Amino acid sequence: MSLHEVFIGFGSNLGDRCALINQALLALSRLPTTSLEKLSSLYETAPVGYLEQDSFLNGVVLVKGSLKASDLLERLLEIESSLGRVRKERWGPRTIDLDILFYGDAIIDAPDLHVPHPELFKRIFVLEPLHEIAPEWLHPCFGGTISELLCKHQSNNPDEVPCRIVAAPPEVALKEVNDGIFYRYGQS
Ligand code: ATP
Ligand code: CA
Ligand code: CA
Repeated sequence: MSLHEVFIGFGSNLGDRCALINQALLALSRLPTTSLEKLSSLYETAPVGYLEQDSFLNGVVLVKGSLKASDLLERLLEIESSLGRVRKERWGPRTIDLDILFYGDAIIDAPDLHVPHPELFKRIFVLEPLHEIAPEWLHPCFGGTISELLCKHQSNNPDEVPCRIVAAPPEVALKEVNDGIFYRYGQS
Protein backbone atom coordinates (compact mmCIF):
# COMPACT_ATOMS: atom_id res chain seq x y z
CA MET A 1 0.00 0.00 0.00
CA SER A 2 1.74 3.18 -1.08
CA LEU A 3 1.05 6.43 0.73
CA HIS A 4 0.66 9.61 -1.26
CA GLU A 5 1.25 13.13 -0.12
CA VAL A 6 -1.71 15.18 -1.25
CA PHE A 7 -2.25 18.91 -0.92
CA ILE A 8 -5.89 19.91 -0.63
CA GLY A 9 -6.96 23.52 -0.92
CA PHE A 10 -10.11 24.54 0.93
CA GLY A 11 -12.31 27.62 0.88
CA SER A 12 -15.63 28.85 2.19
CA ASN A 13 -17.59 32.07 1.77
CA LEU A 14 -21.11 31.13 2.80
CA GLY A 15 -22.51 30.43 6.26
CA ASP A 16 -20.28 29.94 9.29
CA ARG A 17 -17.14 29.74 7.16
CA CYS A 18 -14.72 28.77 9.91
CA ALA A 19 -17.01 26.10 11.37
CA LEU A 20 -17.54 24.63 7.90
CA ILE A 21 -13.80 24.48 7.32
CA ASN A 22 -13.29 22.80 10.70
CA GLN A 23 -15.95 20.24 9.81
CA ALA A 24 -14.37 19.61 6.42
CA LEU A 25 -10.96 19.06 8.04
CA LEU A 26 -12.46 16.66 10.55
CA ALA A 27 -14.15 14.74 7.71
CA LEU A 28 -10.85 14.62 5.80
CA SER A 29 -9.05 13.25 8.84
CA ARG A 30 -11.65 10.46 9.03
CA LEU A 31 -11.27 9.28 5.43
CA PRO A 32 -9.94 5.73 5.18
CA THR A 33 -6.12 5.45 5.44
CA THR A 34 -5.85 9.24 5.62
CA SER A 35 -4.07 11.46 8.13
CA LEU A 36 -3.62 15.21 8.29
CA GLU A 37 0.06 16.11 8.25
CA LYS A 38 0.34 19.88 7.93
CA LEU A 39 -2.17 22.68 8.05
CA SER A 40 -1.68 26.27 6.92
CA SER A 41 -3.00 29.35 8.64
CA LEU A 42 -6.44 30.53 7.65
CA TYR A 43 -6.39 33.34 5.08
CA GLU A 44 -9.08 35.85 4.21
CA THR A 45 -9.35 36.79 0.54
CA ALA A 46 -11.59 38.94 -1.60
CA PRO A 47 -13.67 36.87 -4.08
CA VAL A 48 -12.40 36.28 -7.64
CA GLY A 49 -14.51 35.81 -10.78
CA TYR A 50 -18.03 36.42 -9.55
CA LEU A 51 -17.44 39.50 -7.40
CA GLU A 52 -20.85 40.08 -5.75
CA GLN A 53 -20.28 37.70 -2.86
CA ASP A 54 -18.71 37.62 0.60
CA SER A 55 -15.00 37.25 1.17
CA PHE A 56 -13.43 33.80 1.39
CA LEU A 57 -11.58 31.99 4.09
CA ASN A 58 -8.96 29.77 2.47
CA GLY A 59 -6.16 27.45 3.45
CA VAL A 60 -4.26 24.35 2.45
CA VAL A 61 -3.83 21.01 4.20
CA LEU A 62 -1.31 18.29 3.45
CA VAL A 63 -2.76 14.82 3.90
CA LYS A 64 -1.11 11.45 3.62
CA GLY A 65 -3.09 8.43 2.50
CA SER A 66 -3.49 5.61 0.05
CA LEU A 67 -6.81 6.54 -1.59
CA LYS A 68 -6.58 6.63 -5.38
CA ALA A 69 -6.92 10.15 -6.78
CA SER A 70 -10.31 9.40 -8.38
CA ASP A 71 -11.61 7.93 -5.10
CA LEU A 72 -10.29 10.88 -3.15
CA LEU A 73 -12.07 13.31 -5.51
CA GLU A 74 -15.30 11.36 -5.00
CA ARG A 75 -14.87 11.62 -1.21
CA LEU A 76 -14.17 15.34 -1.42
CA LEU A 77 -17.34 15.92 -3.43
CA GLU A 78 -19.27 13.87 -0.83
CA ILE A 79 -17.85 15.98 2.01
CA GLU A 80 -18.81 19.14 0.10
CA SER A 81 -22.39 17.89 -0.37
CA SER A 82 -22.65 16.82 3.27
CA LEU A 83 -21.69 20.38 4.24
CA GLY A 84 -24.42 21.90 2.11
CA ARG A 85 -22.54 22.70 -1.09
CA VAL A 86 -24.92 23.37 -3.96
CA ARG A 87 -23.37 24.18 -7.34
CA LYS A 88 -25.01 27.06 -9.15
CA GLU A 89 -22.82 29.55 -10.99
CA ARG A 90 -19.13 28.68 -11.42
CA TRP A 91 -17.00 30.45 -8.83
CA GLY A 92 -20.21 31.47 -7.03
CA PRO A 93 -20.75 31.43 -3.25
CA ARG A 94 -20.03 28.08 -1.62
CA THR A 95 -20.23 26.64 1.88
CA ILE A 96 -17.10 24.62 1.20
CA ASP A 97 -14.80 23.94 -1.73
CA LEU A 98 -12.17 21.20 -1.61
CA ASP A 99 -9.68 21.04 -4.49
CA ILE A 100 -6.86 18.56 -5.04
CA LEU A 101 -3.86 20.80 -5.67
CA PHE A 102 -1.14 18.15 -5.89
CA TYR A 103 -1.34 14.38 -5.67
CA GLY A 104 2.29 13.51 -5.02
CA ASP A 105 4.09 14.36 -8.23
CA ALA A 106 1.34 12.87 -10.41
CA ILE A 107 0.07 14.64 -13.50
CA ILE A 108 -3.56 13.67 -14.10
CA ASP A 109 -5.60 14.80 -17.06
CA ALA A 110 -8.95 13.01 -16.77
CA PRO A 111 -12.27 14.57 -17.85
CA ASP A 112 -13.29 15.22 -14.24
CA LEU A 113 -9.88 15.61 -12.60
CA HIS A 114 -6.92 17.83 -13.45
CA VAL A 115 -3.89 17.59 -11.19
CA PRO A 116 -1.89 19.66 -10.41
CA HIS A 117 -4.84 22.02 -10.13
CA PRO A 118 -4.54 24.08 -13.34
CA GLU A 119 -5.29 27.44 -11.68
CA LEU A 120 -3.11 27.14 -8.60
CA PHE A 121 -0.16 29.14 -9.90
CA LYS A 122 -2.50 32.10 -10.65
CA ARG A 123 -4.18 32.19 -7.25
CA ILE A 124 -2.61 34.08 -4.40
CA PHE A 125 -5.05 32.48 -1.93
CA VAL A 126 -3.61 29.08 -2.85
CA LEU A 127 0.04 30.05 -3.31
CA GLU A 128 0.36 31.81 0.06
CA PRO A 129 -0.91 28.96 2.25
CA LEU A 130 0.95 26.40 0.12
CA HIS A 131 4.10 28.43 0.53
CA GLU A 132 3.58 28.53 4.28
CA ILE A 133 3.59 24.72 4.59
CA ALA A 134 5.66 23.55 1.61
CA PRO A 135 7.87 26.28 0.09
CA GLU A 136 10.23 23.73 -1.47
CA TRP A 137 7.54 21.52 -3.02
CA LEU A 138 8.19 21.09 -6.75
CA HIS A 139 5.43 21.68 -9.27
CA PRO A 140 5.76 18.61 -11.51
CA CYS A 141 4.82 20.50 -14.70
CA PHE A 142 6.68 23.79 -14.24
CA GLY A 143 9.62 22.23 -12.43
CA GLY A 144 9.87 25.25 -10.08
CA THR A 145 9.21 25.29 -6.33
CA ILE A 146 6.18 26.88 -4.68
CA SER A 147 8.51 29.64 -3.48
CA GLU A 148 9.48 30.38 -7.08
CA LEU A 149 5.88 30.25 -8.28
CA LEU A 150 4.82 32.67 -5.53
CA CYS A 151 7.65 35.10 -6.36
CA LYS A 152 6.78 35.00 -10.03
CA HIS A 153 3.09 35.54 -9.31
CA GLN A 154 3.89 38.52 -7.06
CA SER A 155 6.18 40.15 -9.59
CA ASN A 156 3.57 39.68 -12.34
CA ASN A 157 0.80 41.12 -10.12
CA PRO A 158 2.41 43.98 -8.18
CA ASP A 159 -0.95 45.64 -7.39
CA GLU A 160 -2.69 42.56 -6.07
CA VAL A 161 -3.94 42.78 -2.48
CA PRO A 162 -2.23 39.99 -0.52
CA CYS A 163 -4.30 37.58 1.56
CA ARG A 164 -4.60 38.33 5.23
CA ILE A 165 -3.89 35.70 7.88
CA VAL A 166 -6.84 35.60 10.25
CA ALA A 167 -6.20 32.47 12.32
CA ALA A 168 -3.33 30.14 13.11
CA PRO A 169 -3.56 26.36 12.89
CA PRO A 170 -3.83 24.43 16.19
CA GLU A 171 -0.72 24.21 18.31
CA VAL A 172 -1.28 20.55 19.19
CA ALA A 173 -0.37 17.75 16.76
CA LEU A 174 -3.04 17.39 14.08
CA LYS A 175 -3.62 13.74 14.99
CA GLU A 176 -4.67 14.81 18.48
CA VAL A 177 -7.25 17.29 17.25
CA ASN A 178 -10.38 15.24 17.39
CA ASP A 179 -13.02 17.71 18.48
CA GLY A 180 -13.08 19.63 15.22
CA ILE A 181 -11.52 22.80 16.63
CA PHE A 182 -8.82 23.30 14.04
CA TYR A 183 -9.12 27.04 13.75
CA ARG A 184 -10.63 29.62 16.06
CA TYR A 185 -11.78 32.68 14.23
CA GLY A 186 -14.16 35.48 14.99
CA GLN A 187 -14.18 34.72 18.72
CA SER A 188 -13.03 37.14 21.37
P1 ATP B 1 -11.91 25.70 -9.81
O1 ATP B 1 -11.66 24.26 -10.16
O2 ATP B 1 -11.53 26.68 -10.90
O3 ATP B 1 -11.30 26.07 -8.49
P2 ATP B 1 -14.42 25.26 -8.57
O4 ATP B 1 -13.59 24.67 -7.47
O5 ATP B 1 -15.42 26.29 -8.19
O6 ATP B 1 -13.48 25.86 -9.69
P3 ATP B 1 -16.17 23.07 -8.67
O7 ATP B 1 -17.58 23.43 -9.04
O8 ATP B 1 -15.86 22.92 -7.21
O9 ATP B 1 -15.16 24.10 -9.33
O10 ATP B 1 -15.73 21.70 -9.34
C1 ATP B 1 -16.18 21.32 -10.61
C2 ATP B 1 -15.49 20.02 -10.98
O11 ATP B 1 -14.09 20.19 -11.12
C3 ATP B 1 -15.59 18.89 -9.98
O12 ATP B 1 -16.81 18.20 -10.06
C4 ATP B 1 -14.41 17.99 -10.36
O13 ATP B 1 -14.83 16.90 -11.17
C5 ATP B 1 -13.57 18.89 -11.24
N1 ATP B 1 -12.13 18.91 -10.93
C6 ATP B 1 -11.17 18.84 -11.88
N2 ATP B 1 -9.95 18.88 -11.32
C7 ATP B 1 -10.15 18.96 -9.96
C8 ATP B 1 -9.25 19.02 -8.86
N3 ATP B 1 -7.91 19.01 -9.03
N4 ATP B 1 -9.79 19.08 -7.61
C9 ATP B 1 -11.14 19.10 -7.44
N5 ATP B 1 -12.04 19.04 -8.45
C10 ATP B 1 -11.54 18.98 -9.71
CA1 CA C 1 -11.82 25.73 -6.38
CA1 CA D 1 -13.69 22.62 -6.45
